[in-house]
Amino acid sequence: MHFGWRVLLAVLIIFMFTLGCDEAPESVSQSVVRALDEHDDFESWNQSDYHPEKVFDDWLEWQTESSVVCNELSKLSDLDLTVFENQIRDSKYKKILVGCQRGLIRRLDLYWNRERGSVSVPNLDFKFTTETLVMDSVPRGKILAQGFARKQVLFTFDDGPHPEYTEKMLKIFKQTGVKALFFLLGKSARMFPDEVYKIAAEGHSVGSHTESHSCVALNSRCRRSNHSPLSSSQSYNEIAAGARSVIKVLGWTHPFFRFPYGESSPELQNYLYGRGFFDFYWSIDSEDWKKRGLGDYYQSLINKIDRQQGGNILFHDIHKKTLEVMPLLLKYLYKNNYTIVIVKAKPVTAF
Ligand SMILES: [Zn+2]
Repeated sequence: MHFGWRVLLAVLIIFMFTLGCDEAPESVSQSVVRALDEHDDFESWNQSDYHPEKVFDDWLEWQTESSVVCNELSKLSDLDLTVFENQIRDSKYKKILVGCQRGLIRRLDLYWNRERGSVSVPNLDFKFTTETLVMDSVPRGKILAQGFARKQVLFTFDDGPHPEYTEKMLKIFKQTGVKALFFLLGKSARMFPDEVYKIAAEGHSVGSHTESHSCVALNSRCRRSNHSPLSSSQSYNEIAAGARSVIKVLGWTHPFFRFPYGESSPELQNYLYGRGFFDFYWSIDSEDWKKRGLGDYYQSLINKIDRQQGGNILFHDIHKKTLEVMPLLLKYLYKNNYTIVIVKAKPVTAF
């Protein structure tokens, strides 16, 4: 009898110990607070374990109660809520937003409508002339803004295409004669092929940005961000698969590639150059992912562009704010005698 109790106690202790060793899921409110905190630090945010996408994926994985998630999100201010905007609007997460997804989207829409009201959106009754920079004879290497003249601007967009925002961005560009360079994610290109055709048909340039946005560089920053770091061959595959997805949809791609987070390594760069591709970096980061009202965002953007007198600007066509700032930005650039440059190179049909 006595012995039986001891065994039971031992089993109970071992059981509790095992439970303790398992990584306990953090509370929803803790994750929300961490996501907001880390958002303020540009260096770490994109690769943080508390990037909103990772936080939402964890909630999905842990089958977190939607009522708990809804409760935490609805407590946030409108501006804080914008940090989670892409996830709130994503049908992938509707399971953990049961009962509040529509309400939260409505709040975000109202917020941006109010924001738009505070900045005057002009009529786009002007047209840029776009200069083409042909890069066929440029040695393959890392591109920032070499070859750009003063007051020339190149628009580059990462992480798309997005079924709604890319489409609307293309409309703005059509009206104003702007041509841009889109670094597509392979998986999104396959998911939204119509957007890809449209980008190409309207004369924009097309590059790739890996298949699924893995951090491929194997350096310490990438290691920190990847739950299971990639091997060399997995990194090569991730780059190749992205370019091949674009080629599969379009039949070709321009030989332009952008590393996720801009994180590259000499080994991977040589891999690209050997296949005739450029490592296309940027000279101005628009920081369109950052939590900010439209007015502040617009002001910081034109300050940056003026300071550098143009350059190769990194945007993301997956954010609503990027779309909303564009008419204002174009109007400003036009009035201040900036010109648009687009880069081209002979398309390739295999990677
Ligand atoms: Zn990206």
